[in-house]
Amino acid sequence: MKWRVQLSDIDIGNEEIRAVSGVLRSKWLTMGAVTGEFEAAFARYLGVKYAFAVANGTAALHIAHEALGINSRDEVICPSLTFVATANSIMYTGAKPVFADIASLDDLNISPDSILKKITSRTKAITVVHYGGYPCNMDAIIKIAKKHSLFIIEDAAHAPGSEYKNKKIGAIGDIGCFSFFSNKNMTTAEGGMVVTDNPGLAKKIRLLRSHGMTTLTLDRHKGHAFTYDVEALGYNYRIDEIRAAIGLVQLNKLDSNNELRGHLVRMYRSRLNNHEKIMAPFYKYSGKPSFHIFPVLLKDKALRPRFMDYLKKRGIQSSIHYPPIHLFDFYKRKFGYKEGVLPLTEEASKREVTLPLYPGMRLEDVRFVTEAITSFHKNA
Ligand SMILES: *Cc1c(COP(=O)(O)O)cnc(C)c1O
Repeated sequence: MKWRVQLSDIDIGNEEIRAVSGVLRSKWLTMGAVTGEFEAAFARYLGVKYAFAVANGTAALHIAHEALGINSRDEVICPSLTFVATANSIMYTGAKPVFADIASLDDLNISPDSILKKITSRTKAITVVHYGGYPCNMDAIIKIAKKHSLFIIEDAAHAPGSEYKNKKIGAIGDIGCFSFFSNKNMTTAEGGMVVTDNPGLAKKIRLLRSHGMTTLTLDRHKGHAFTYDVEALGYNYRIDEIRAAIGLVQLNKLDSNNELRGHLVRMYRSRLNNHEKIMAPFYKYSGKPSFHIFPVLLKDKALRPRFMDYLKKRGIQSSIHYPPIHLFDFYKRKFGYKEGVLPLTEEASKREVTLPLYPGMRLEDVRFVTEAITSFHKNA
């Protein structure tokens, strides 16, 4: 389908093409000098000691939980209003994801009060998601984590470049995880990053990424080693040089592209301000968001299918973030979750529509979308 305004679009140009060609010509295709450069640049950008590039964001989350020693005896508190990978990655360790509600219909992030209510003697960690790139209430969450001796994992898939109290998102918890999937604020096609300041965790993450092996192919190529030992049950979650090269270029554009997103969001907000039938969450937010997506909530959830269909007829692509995880068939069967257990999450997920947003979007596209919204409600 050819959209007049599509949901998202990536900023890929000659620089990325040149970087990829350079890697191909070098004939060193996987985890080498370029990956090292990408990790160093990302660590510097975030202000953390260690960054490990991995195959995707889900792999990042999986080894983050595993490095913290989370296992089948444990529970991890996380939101349900997120991509299923957040909870799946907890389940890969054998632990139980325990879903907490969102803070409100304005703040779609995990609620500190709800977290408190979900803590049991088995709780080991809190995995937060900065929805849409808007930072969670980290002061309150850190306070809870300290009091109950819980780890904090940040799922920062939406939030590269976001800041909370002048600290980069992803650099606040024990471990931060990023995704560079094709629809994220910066992309490597598929890819991810695990970051931490803790040297012990860094050592574990490095091992888990590549079969628990003590040396890499690159070390052996350089003549630093002939053999290796295996110290843990690891995975093949490595990234390749082609993706790392794209990542280096994308990281350079991240701040300016996030600013472009912010500019468009401010335009959206001013045009939808005081709209009777629609509200834009995160009216109040703290810190600096990355503006990953632009979610709105319809006053009347029954109108959503007709609303999205109307936008589609005008060539405007929209989406839903998210169907809540606790109501997916697999999660219901596994844990017995029922409708009604997370009232705010369920309400938001029924009313939410994600509108187009990407750095190359034009102001006239925003006008086109908001005018379509107004004319829909006149006719509805
Ligand atoms: C995209 C995303 C992930 C998973 O990342 P992949 O790179 O697709 O594996 C995890 N959590 C959230 C919130 C995401 O949006």
